Amino acid sequence: MPATMVNELDQMKTMIRNFVENEIDPCAQQIEDEDTIPQHLVKKAKELGLFGMSIPEEYGGIGLNAVGKAIVLEQLGRTHNGYVSLISAHTGIGSTGLVKLASETLKQKYLPDMAAGNKIAAFALSEPGAGSDATNLSTKAVKQGDKWILNGMKHFITNGPVADIFTVIASNDKSKGAKGITAFLVEKDFPGLIVGKRDKKMGLKGSYTCQILFEDCEVPEENVIGEVGMGYVSALKILGEGRIGLAARAVGSCEKLIEMSASYAKERVQFGKPIASNQAIQWMLADMATETEAARTLMMKAAEMIDEGKKVIKEASMAKLFASEVFNRVADKAVQIHGGMGYVSDYPVERFYRDARITKIYEGTSEIQRMIISRHILAEN
Ligand SMILES: Cc1cc2nc3c(=O)[nH]c(=O)nc-3n(C[C@H](O)[C@H](O)[C@H](O)COP(=O)(O)OP(=O)(O)OC[C@H]3O[C@@H](n4cnc5c(N)ncnc54)[C@H](O)[C@@H]3O)c2cc1C
Repeated sequence: MPATMVNELDQMKTMIRNFVENEIDPCAQQIEDEDTIPQHLVKKAKELGLFGMSIPEEYGGIGLNAVGKAIVLEQLGRTHNGYVSLISAHTGIGSTGLVKLASETLKQKYLPDMAAGNKIAAFALSEPGAGSDATNLSTKAVKQGDKWILNGMKHFITNGPVADIFTVIASNDKSKGAKGITAFLVEKDFPGLIVGKRDKKMGLKGSYTCQILFEDCEVPEENVIGEVGMGYVSALKILGEGRIGLAARAVGSCEKLIEMSASYAKERVQFGKPIASNQAIQWMLADMATETEAARTLMMKAAEMIDEGKKVIKEASMAKLFASEVFNRVADKAVQIHGGMGYVSDYPVERFYRDARITKIYEGTSEIQRMIISRHILAEN
């Protein structure tokens, strides 16, 4: 990487770290209690260009490469995961289809507003009957003249209640299975798109998820992303890049948990000495740090491969699988080190523990990541 780029990334990292510590962290409990994101934090993210971090400069974004984006998301992972979801779903699964696969017309029409954060993006693949088996879609797209008509329901859609633009994956020919699936760019205001009820979640407070319904929803034919019938391949690409972002956030969260745990262990005195002087605590910290470093290495390797133009489906799955499982183990140990204080909301470890859980589920469960990885290994050998 050229030295100028390294300097720019260092500056960006410092800027994000300051934003996290001075502005997001102080609002974390408020986000948790109110289950909503304060508008001034959305405004600040816009000012910092975070909504456009992965959108090319020619469309008004910062145009970070995959490594740059991973560095930013790792820093953001150190703070409230619900808040960060708004930005990462927008810049990741919400934007990747448009940035990497859409026509120039669609890019010019939508990306500038998305880069500025004036239009929020979401990705709608999951359905009640199509979770891990994402090819089993019931949402249908039927061509009528110069429009596609969408009918069906998506659920658990991150940013759904606040999104202006959806990448929707629908079946245009069920008989063709994965080859009969197409990706569409659907605006919130297209007739027939209905935003459903918001989900109440275990964690990720402030991150909005909901059902999205399509009732004879009309989508202009030019709003197909990529080619008709290639929507499943597009979804895999979008998810592949999203998984690296998710791994980066998990690594950032682990770093924060380690710092909080080490600091607490040095302060907390039992049996007349800091609990940090016990080897049992030291070993937990050692395992937390070692696994986090390994997760970072896997995540960065996948990001570098994207920047080198290589296929990363397997590596992205490895990074996501390992980082999300490490996040859960690290959060568990952090709670243990904090004792009873780890179980109450006075310390952020309790929140990180709940927020860690979803990372083993969304953007493909751990079981599905193992399935993807093993398929590659069996095909390669
Ligand atoms: C907070 C949140 C946000 C989300 N955001 C989005 C979003 O923005 N966009 C979107 O499209 N979706 C989103 N999702 C959906 C998410 O991606 C799915 O929940 C996830 O892919 C799992 O699907 P499922 O819930 O239907 O579980 P299921 O597929 O029903 O799986 C249930 C269990 O069975 C296991 N299982 C299934 N098949 C196999 C198999 N072949 N082998 C072994 N085990 C298997 C799974 O691993 C899991 O443990 C979100 C979900 C949540 C909770």
